[in-house]
Amino acid sequence: MKDFIRFLEESPVCFYTVRALCKRFEAAGFSALSLYEDWQIEAGGKYYLTVGDSACFAFVLPEDLSQIKAPVYRMIGAHTDQPCLRVKPTPDMRQNGYYKLNIEVYGGPIYATWMDRPLSLAGRVVLKSEDVFNPQVCYVDLKKPVLVIPNLAIHMNHEVNKGVALDPQTDLLPIGGFASGEDGSLLMEALCAELQVQAEDILDFDLFTYTTEPPCLAGFKEEFLSAPHLDDLVMVHTAAAALLEAKPQTGVDIFCGFDHEEVGSRSRMGAGSDTLHIVLEKISKALGRTHLTEDLLQSFLISGDVAHATHPNHPERHDPVLTTKLGGGPVIKIAAAQSYVTQSEDYVVYEQICKKAGVPVQKFTNRSNARGGSTIGPIIAGRIPCRIVDMGIPILAMHSARELMAVKDYDLTKQSFITFYNE
Ligand SMILES: [Zn+2]
Repeated sequence: MKDFIRFLEESPVCFYTVRALCKRFEAAGFSALSLYEDWQIEAGGKYYLTVGDSACFAFVLPEDLSQIKAPVYRMIGAHTDQPCLRVKPTPDMRQNGYYKLNIEVYGGPIYATWMDRPLSLAGRVVLKSEDVFNPQVCYVDLKKPVLVIPNLAIHMNHEVNKGVALDPQTDLLPIGGFASGEDGSLLMEALCAELQVQAEDILDFDLFTYTTEPPCLAGFKEEFLSAPHLDDLVMVHTAAAALLEAKPQTGVDIFCGFDHEEVGSRSRMGAGSDTLHIVLEKISKALGRTHLTEDLLQSFLISGDVAHATHPNHPERHDPVLTTKLGGGPVIKIAAAQSYVTQSEDYVVYEQICKKAGVPVQKFTNRSNARGGSTIGPIIAGRIPCRIVDMGIPILAMHSARELMAVKDYDLTKQSFITFYNE
């Protein structure tokens, strides 16, 4: 749990999440691979690679490759991105003496939770280089609170406590200071100072807002963790931490961290691309295996994305029978619409893994008159014909700027993942 909290603090946005993962894989003796080269891999070896700075894969091979049998590839996938606000190109705005940033919404945040919080910016800045196809890329994290989105006072909106619709193009524009003069950009000034470059060297950027208040334990007995980005960094961290402890006997254990889940997964870093297939193809080739399709048909993926715990103030919004609790252990997610992969012969596999690990397991379905969310599970199911279960740690306030989980569920879920990898 301590390392998870540290990991959250190191991960304001996906690029830093992937960097924090690589640091942990390197420290545990994993060797770096490149998607652009042929792979030389050995029995008992541990490897990792990144794709486009925001997706990350890692795998461990058994000591005796002749022992490999179905399911050949044992994968746990999660996503590295989270709902937030993204800075638009040329974002400087001036109004009524204030300097503001033009932003757009990334994913589906609960807008109201971003109001009145100190916000910072982190992401990637692209700099000029000699080679037009390969600009220089730098990461940047301003760390300090540079932005705030102030609420409209109750005196100007007496109905605010009855619910208020927020328009991203007007209500969510953060202020970052006073506008002095017509030109100049406080954002560019900050980026230049941080990176020690000139404004003309900056070609563009991918910058995202994050809340600067650190994660904290909460509850009279500190049973809870209140933190930003639990969706889905808690699944990313439990899966990666389990891989670090995995001792595969008969399968190849794989961790997958995909970007862009919150916006549909359609990118080369996302689960909707062929990237995972390419990774599996390269492992298969390097191992000298000749029947990739058959191996894939007999492989197994745990799609790890946080699940809804039944809200204590709103049980009527949840299924009347299948209630899910914080602290009750990992949750298997089931939906007739296949918005979660729902084959009983597959999800009972995870249920039995939990039983073997001594971990309690819960089941979630949407209320029959509600639509609910989706995950990378069905997206991968459309590309790779392996067996899949959708599951996740239960949380409250999903997509709020701060979400809530039970401390206990971290260890329970990690233990179930170690048992899956070692089975
Ligand atoms: Zn998620």
